Amino acid sequence: MLSAARHSALRAVRAQTGPKSQSLFAQSHSSSLARLLSTLAILEQKDGVLNTGSLGAVTAGQKLGGPVHGFVAGKNAKSIAQEAAKVQGLEKVIAAESEAYERGLAENWAPLLVENIKKGGYTHVIAAHSAFGKSILPRVAALLDAQQISDVTSIESEDTFVRPIYAGNAILTVQSTDPIKFLTVRQTAFAPAETEGGSASVEEGVDPKVESQTEWVSESLAKSDRPELASAEKVVSGGRGLKSKEEFERLIPPLADALGAAIGASRAAVDSGFADNSLQVGQTGKNVAPQLYLAVGISGAIQHLAGMKDSKVIACINKDPDAPIFQVADVGLVGDLFERVPELTEKLAR
Ligand SMILES: Cc1cc2nc3c(=O)[nH]c(=O)nc-3n(C[C@H](O)[C@H](O)[C@H](O)COP(=O)(O)OP(=O)(O)OC[C@H]3O[C@@H](n4cnc5c(N)ncnc54)[C@H](O)[C@@H]3O)c2cc1C
Repeated sequence: MLSAARHSALRAVRAQTGPKSQSLFAQSHSSSLARLLSTLAILEQKDGVLNTGSLGAVTAGQKLGGPVHGFVAGKNAKSIAQEAAKVQGLEKVIAAESEAYERGLAENWAPLLVENIKKGGYTHVIAAHSAFGKSILPRVAALLDAQQISDVTSIESEDTFVRPIYAGNAILTVQSTDPIKFLTVRQTAFAPAETEGGSASVEEGVDPKVESQTEWVSESLAKSDRPELASAEKVVSGGRGLKSKEEFERLIPPLADALGAAIGASRAAVDSGFADNSLQVGQTGKNVAPQLYLAVGISGAIQHLAGMKDSKVIACINKDPDAPIFQVADVGLVGDLFERVPELTEKLAR
């Protein structure tokens, strides 16, 4: 439980921010304050390869000013750290090499991060708003008696951050008085830092070697050769309008292939078993902001829009001209998807 004092540490300050606070921030950047800031950016890895999707944390750290250090852990952490050292904007990369951190278990990572944050004296700790970041950072923040600020889309100053609430229907500006600010940042709002051109030093991290009650047993991952949903340039998403898993699989992959797109789905489609859970777009799924988002048989509920409304061009196919998706769509086709999708796929494949 967080104490009342902790709750008061995080205040909504929307009315107080704006051009004035931004100019104060600009001044503080050039002042000694910026030199006192230091950020730890948590970098993700999978099977020894740095996940560039997590490099938005470095970009966010650079916006704060002050040095940004990267943090990697896992069984090949030292070699990943060499790769991460080339990331632009990092001054140092801290590596904790141990099998215990390979699978990203929050129970193992939390004490590890606590020790390294204390040692580095960081004022800000940033992770991507990914499943990994969302799982790990709240534990670390709680262990250091601070509140995490989730899904940050903009950094106004060293203590003031913008984040969506109510499935993106309201935008909150929050100010934190916690001595260490813990942020997860929305990947579509902070471009990944460049992976070449940097020359950070690499340092061994502190390993508390805490005995964990949790053991990684196995994982079952959906394999796909398609572009990764969260970072794809184009996304074709299917909804309940597709009626069945068979129809989803018959119509959506050929259309996605014709466009070179990743596949997404609404929660109704996922809950009905048409598509894998990892493909869900929306408030409780993934956030995407591709150049093109094509919604097929999706009504456009606010929880779905929360995950895709920042897409550059939104297109939709829906038989109901009053479906809410048409209110956000740049291009809409009113029609029966069972006729329109094969027609469109054929034209695109020509
Ligand atoms: C807390 C919470 C979190 C949620 N999180 C998410 C989330 O992350 N992502 C998400 O997507 N939803 C989420 N939802 C669910 C959301 O509210 C909607 O229920 C869901 O998005 C609806 O999915 P849908 O558009 O596929 O289905 P529907 O709303 O049933 O829409 C189906 C659409 O298909 C059209 N259609 C039907 N037949 C055809 C046809 N033959 N040709 C063309 N069009 C056709 C219909 O006109 C309709 O517009 C959440 C809800 C809650 C309460």
